[in-house]
Amino acid sequence: MDHPAVIHKTASDLRLPPHWANYEAVRREDVWGMARQALQGLPGGGLNIGFEAVDRHAGGALREHCALRFVARDQPALELSYGELARLSNRFANVLQGLGIGKGDRLFVLAGRLPALYVAVLGALKNGTVVTPLFSAFGPEPIATRIALGAGQVLVTTEALYQRKVRQIRERLPTLRHVILVAEDDGDTDQPGTLDWARLMASASEQFSTVPTQADDPALLHFTSGTTGTPKGALHVHGAVVTHYATGRYALDLHAQDRFWCTADPGWVTGTSYGIIAPLLHGVTSLIDREEFDAERWYSLLEQERISVWYTAPTAIRMLMKAPVELAQRHRWPALRFVASVGEPLNPQAVWWGQQVLGLPIHDNWWQTETGGIMIANTPAFDIKPGSMGRPLPGIEACIVEHLEAEGEPPRVRVIETPDVEGELALKRGWPSMFRGYLNNEARYQKCFAGELYLTGDLARVDADGYYWFVGRADDVIKSAGHLIGPFEVESVLMEHPAVAEAGVIGKPDALLGELVKAFVSLKDGQVASEPLRLDILAHARKRLGAAVAPKEIAFLPTLPRTRSGKIMRRLLKARELGLPEGDTSTLEGGA
Ligand code: ATP
Ligand code: MG
Repeated sequence: MDHPAVIHKTASDLRLPPHWANYEAVRREDVWGMARQALQGLPGGGLNIGFEAVDRHAGGALREHCALRFVARDQPALELSYGELARLSNRFANVLQGLGIGKGDRLFVLAGRLPALYVAVLGALKNGTVVTPLFSAFGPEPIATRIALGAGQVLVTTEALYQRKVRQIRERLPTLRHVILVAEDDGDTDQPGTLDWARLMASASEQFSTVPTQADDPALLHFTSGTTGTPKGALHVHGAVVTHYATGRYALDLHAQDRFWCTADPGWVTGTSYGIIAPLLHGVTSLIDREEFDAERWYSLLEQERISVWYTAPTAIRMLMKAPVELAQRHRWPALRFVASVGEPLNPQAVWWGQQVLGLPIHDNWWQTETGGIMIANTPAFDIKPGSMGRPLPGIEACIVEHLEAEGEPPRVRVIETPDVEGELALKRGWPSMFRGYLNNEARYQKCFAGELYLTGDLARVDADGYYWFVGRADDVIKSAGHLIGPFEVESVLMEHPAVAEAGVIGKPDALLGELVKAFVSLKDGQVASEPLRLDILAHARKRLGAAVAPKEIAFLPTLPRTRSGKIMRRLLKARELGLPEGDTSTLEGGA
């Protein structure tokens, strides 16, 4: 079906007056200064993410307001108010102090989406201790590598995860002084060489004064998703809280009465910046679902939990699109007013699916582990061009650059002023949540900057209206018969075919073309792979893209390899196709 190129917003699309409606005017304002003003700062000066997220509200009108609401399949829901979260995080900060863990020390958390994870992260932040949440599905090796690289001194995990994954690597982690175990069932834990969470928490005081951190003090260490290679450790500072606040306002449009659901796991940056910090900064109630993806469950949660703002990812949206539409038709979401997505390019088809099935278009936004917060976004009051990731948020200056030398060091680039020309997406450095280093890799960090510009490694173009269009990762772009082909464009066209659920496109070395375009597709539920179907998809792609850009080869796969944060791993599709080593697969979903 042909869709118009723009979704125009009118007042009737907005259930609440959005925080901004005049793009140019708000971008002229000092939004970082305003966001900093909205925050409190520490009593004696300084800035601390944990204090702003929790204590600022716990001392005021939101003391009894639900901050986090945990739901699970077979257990009653558990709610923590802002006041309770403040007391619990104080206790945990005192636990850390008691263990001699202070400012600048490093804590890792390896747990499912349990209350203890959130308490540990917030308590550690208030203690000035640098936090890294890890995916609980990681196997022993990725856990060991990350704790070793980050020189972790404390680990909070569950008894079960400890037994399955940590005990055998413990000896290899000499920096790890303390392991604190959370019981799965409210009881005590009892493992040699470990401490018990419940016991420590019970004997710790509820009173704690946040350690005076400054905006430049380290707060969080996040590992990248490992989509293009070995994950990098990106270091973030407490000052990032200014971006978390501003983006919660301008990109997610959080209002006090919202019930917010960010589906990302805290094991990657979205689940921390927007699964923990930003919603708390805005005093809203966040839903935390302890279960994994399930289409029926997710539709029900949106309905029963009366979610008003939903932040999810293309991979989840594609899975919902893959499920039978009747599942969705059993539900109504009158409370839902804004849906956003991040992590991968959002195919136009997915934006329209939102409009048709949820009754709301999906708003794509773009950022990276390195940027610490949303940088480019589609937001409530502005028109959407499906397929575009939106426009730079207030405070963010973006541009498209070309490299003046292929491999220069430091890199030298030129800004491309003409609209619609592809190049590398760059940001003017200096936004508050910009990462401050790659752990143990200063050279790599320096290579990300050309003078005042941070180079993102993503290729994009910007149109005359200032909307940014993702082309592909610099590493994934295909050079075929003199054309530069972005995988996203080809994948989006394949997704238009009614049988296709998802697509991953790679360049395959070819004597004649340099590279030929090869597509891997997985089909929607109920569709069966066949030669006529393959030819039909090929024909559709040729008609839409022309013979030079359309895939020459299409292969069916039951599912595409993806990272635990939900990104299609094109480098793995390529390695498998060419019989090459698979490289770092520590973040591969379903991997060890
Ligand atoms: P690694 O750096 O280890 O290869 P990664 O880049 O996937 O992993 P993240 O920081 O989690 O790690 O992901 C950021 C990247 O995800 C961006 O650089 C971009 O390539 C992609 N991305 C995020 N949001 C979008 C979006 N809205 N549209 C297109 N791509 C996106
Ligand atoms: Mg990256």
